[in-house]
Amino acid sequence: MAIESPKEECGVFGIYSAKDQVAESIYYGLFALQHRGQESAGITTSDLSDIHSVCDLGLITNVFKQEDIEKLKGNIGIGHTRYSTTGSHLKENAQPFNVYGTNGELSFAHNGNVINSFELRERLLSEYDIKFKTSTDSEILALLYANAVGNNWLEKSTYCMRLVKGAYSLVMMTKDTLIGVRDPLGIRPLCLGKMDDAWILSSESAALAHIGAEFVREIENGETVVIDKNGIESIKFNSAAKQHSLCIFEQIYFARPDSMLDGTIAYESRVKMGEALAKEHPVDADVVIGVPDAAIPASIGYSRESKIDYAEGLIRNRYVGRTFIYPDQRLRELGVKTKFNVLKNVVKNKKIILVDDSIVRGTTTSRVLQLLREAGAAEVHMRVSSPPIISPCYFGVDMATNEELIANNFDVENIRKIIGADSLGFLSLDNLLKSVNSKNGEYCKACFTGNYPIPIQLDFDKYQFEKSRKK
Ligand code: SF4
Repeated sequence: MAIESPKEECGVFGIYSAKDQVAESIYYGLFALQHRGQESAGITTSDLSDIHSVCDLGLITNVFKQEDIEKLKGNIGIGHTRYSTTGSHLKENAQPFNVYGTNGELSFAHNGNVINSFELRERLLSEYDIKFKTSTDSEILALLYANAVGNNWLEKSTYCMRLVKGAYSLVMMTKDTLIGVRDPLGIRPLCLGKMDDAWILSSESAALAHIGAEFVREIENGETVVIDKNGIESIKFNSAAKQHSLCIFEQIYFARPDSMLDGTIAYESRVKMGEALAKEHPVDADVVIGVPDAAIPASIGYSRESKIDYAEGLIRNRYVGRTFIYPDQRLRELGVKTKFNVLKNVVKNKKIILVDDSIVRGTTTSRVLQLLREAGAAEVHMRVSSPPIISPCYFGVDMATNEELIANNFDVENIRKIIGADSLGFLSLDNLLKSVNSKNGEYCKACFTGNYPIPIQLDFDKYQFEKSRKK
């Protein structure tokens, strides 16, 4: 089912430097975050008197040419790389975008999804003379910040946090200030880095190393940081203290393995998931292979714990995007054919354990199993380093609808039959939680439980804003 949607899983990046031009570093920072969104990209910079923007559909390397980077003058800047679903693949929805309000011009980039955007939109329309240009919840959030009440950006952000419900990791910029915000639940990641006299905000810590910056810390849930010529200031929204709900899928799949999440490197958590999976679902086999790239650490963990050799049996064409986020069934099926090749001599006549990080619709998984059988695998035992996904996400991940989620419709035995595996085992939620360091508290795990960290109306329509706009 392909429905137009504002939901997205994106990457945000920002730099404030006292003296250096920032566009090139933002370019490389975004390049390191390309896995978080491949449909559009943009950079906005400020030279203190003017704001410059380059924004378009496509991969980072397609959007920016050398002359664009040269045009993006200034020592403050933000960048964004975006994923959207069918229909929202519009240039007007690319970020960062600039809005104007009572607080002046604001350049804005967002990762997440606001669940009360319809209500916020009505509020803005009733209070200000506003005309919306895009179909995104991000524009609503941007205009809320551009018109927020408060004596400074820390107060204005606190004002907005009282009104907004949902997931939002933000980087924003005025002509002289860089602002970073992580929502009170901390659903999407955001971290702080430092490079000489420059401060950096990034969705993931891995991007910091790519520009030669050092990781300082994760931005806390409910925290706003404001960076300007006076240095860095921070405030924490008062109700955010206890409830931390980082998306556990960042640990399982989304974030790069070399990114720091909740105090641990995602790679280490994923290896532990694989080890726990081997203890929970052992099976006699000849070789462990992983679905590249995200499931490789878990397959190494499975191999380590089970003492069964690990080998590369599936080779991924790295220039094809993730099938998980292709917008429709036809492209998803085509994607699998162009994405994987099997090393026949690794799998032929062997009992294979295939480790993947998740099963969403099941379509991709069954096709990969078919490829292994065609290559001569004697048995294929599927092991999944996360629990069955039974509920959709309302916090910025467009994974599937209730109807499309295979585990919402079938039990494990029937999923095994559908995907064509000799056996199938999912990591339990308990063991998943033991595999991730949770020093900050809880994770959002709603897609495995149906229990969301903030109340979601059961009849909540993810697309209500898009529909109302089309009328
Ligand atoms: S519902 Fe699932 S994918 Fe969405 S934020 Fe929660 S854990 Fe992440």
